[in-house]
Amino acid sequence: MFTPLPSPEHLRSHPNQLPDAVDLSLTLARKGEALRAFVTLFDGRAREDARRVRDALTRGESLPLGGWILAVKDNIAIKDQPLTCASKILDGFRSGFTATAVERLEKAGAVVIGKTNLDEFAMGSSSENSVFGAVRNPRDPERVPGGSSGGSAVAVAAGWVHGALGSDTGGSVRQPAAFCGVAGLKPTYGRVSRYGLVAFGSSLDQIAPISTSCARLFDLLCFMAGVDSMDSSSAHVPPPMRNGGLARLNHALRIGLPQEYFLEGLAPDVESAIRRAVERLRGLGHHVCEVSLPHTPYAIPVYYIVAAAEASSNLARFDGARYGWRDPAASTLSDLYEQTRGEGFGPEVRRRIMMGTFVLSAGYYDAYYRKAQQVRRGILDDFKKAFAEVDVLITPTAPTTAFKLGEKLDDPLAMYLSDIYTVSANLAGVPALSVPVGKDRQGLPIGLQIMGPHFAEERILQLGAQVESLTCEGRS
Ligand code: GLN
Repeated sequence: MFTPLPSPEHLRSHPNQLPDAVDLSLTLARKGEALRAFVTLFDGRAREDARRVRDALTRGESLPLGGWILAVKDNIAIKDQPLTCASKILDGFRSGFTATAVERLEKAGAVVIGKTNLDEFAMGSSSENSVFGAVRNPRDPERVPGGSSGGSAVAVAAGWVHGALGSDTGGSVRQPAAFCGVAGLKPTYGRVSRYGLVAFGSSLDQIAPISTSCARLFDLLCFMAGVDSMDSSSAHVPPPMRNGGLARLNHALRIGLPQEYFLEGLAPDVESAIRRAVERLRGLGHHVCEVSLPHTPYAIPVYYIVAAAEASSNLARFDGARYGWRDPAASTLSDLYEQTRGEGFGPEVRRRIMMGTFVLSAGYYDAYYRKAQQVRRGILDDFKKAFAEVDVLITPTAPTTAFKLGEKLDDPLAMYLSDIYTVSANLAGVPALSVPVGKDRQGLPIGLQIMGPHFAEERILQLGAQVESLTCEGRS
């Protein structure tokens, strides 16, 4: 897609143009208001940052991400700024600190222009569950951009920013990237600090970058990643070395196609785009074979038990006493809790809290939650076995392309099924990438997913870059 913003590389070597570029970015985001991608624009803060980065670059300071203009999903904290999670319950709340991932990107010179719209508390696959209204897909405004990081994917796809942060608990960065025709990477669990990300499913959540190409995702990842004393689940694994940027893949890989990902429910145009790309990769010398991930049919039920259980516990803190909005009509403490939570949360969040409380309750814990944990282990073992035979797995990112606004709103199960190919990577903690791989007959973007072993982000991004060069899509 045509992008009127000068590239980060250009701005880094012409720092004088950075303040104008940030102005342009803010103007474009405002002009595109009808897509509802942003919930807050930082005007003053962003312009000030742009001047500060310009001055530092002009003085010759090395700011490796100087020239980058970013957007951040509004479930990630930035000090003194509103943090809404697209929920009424956080109305009026401002964050007291900045998320580690954002802090690291800003320290490297990136300028953040604002916070993006999402499904409330990141629960959803369409970015329609937002107190600010549904986000729309720039490729076709009658369609959803995917979710829950829909606003971030739209800001990148529309060319208003160079990159954006989202969060991915079950596919929330990969599926919107696929629906909007951009690239999105869910890092290995623990690769990026979760400090400052509002917790949804703590054992699944990762802050995840979206951009126009795999090379750019790599640039962002190198600065976001790494252990953080503020997040005890962050891994003691050094971030990938950026050196001159993402290197070309110079050897053949063993590519596995999980047979369970190519069954019923997969749109024919999506399947043929993936198979075509795989054939071309085979033509480049990669070895392709079928593999099996036998626990795949349980991935959706396991995810919706584990994620809901964790959410019900994580969201217990929003009770009207400490954060954001409280029902002014409440007269007793229990009314305060009940009314604030009953009115402050939207229907999908309430559904998750009820499901989560149910699967954790006495008598049902063993039947649902414990069982789900056992099957989750089976899903992880499937991946371990597969990665003993192959280097990466290729699948579709989502079973269909972007669907119409409203189409799945009354049918939560149909909505949940749009995560069928993405949730397993979160349950197993492995890294997973979505990269554009052409369009369907209606001209809507298709995403190809590459999954790899823990901490193999660099490898899957290198293969992703090769897919981009095959299809001439997703280039920066
Ligand atoms: N769509 C999934 C859900 O609704 C995934 C959300 C996410 O990754 N944040 O839970």
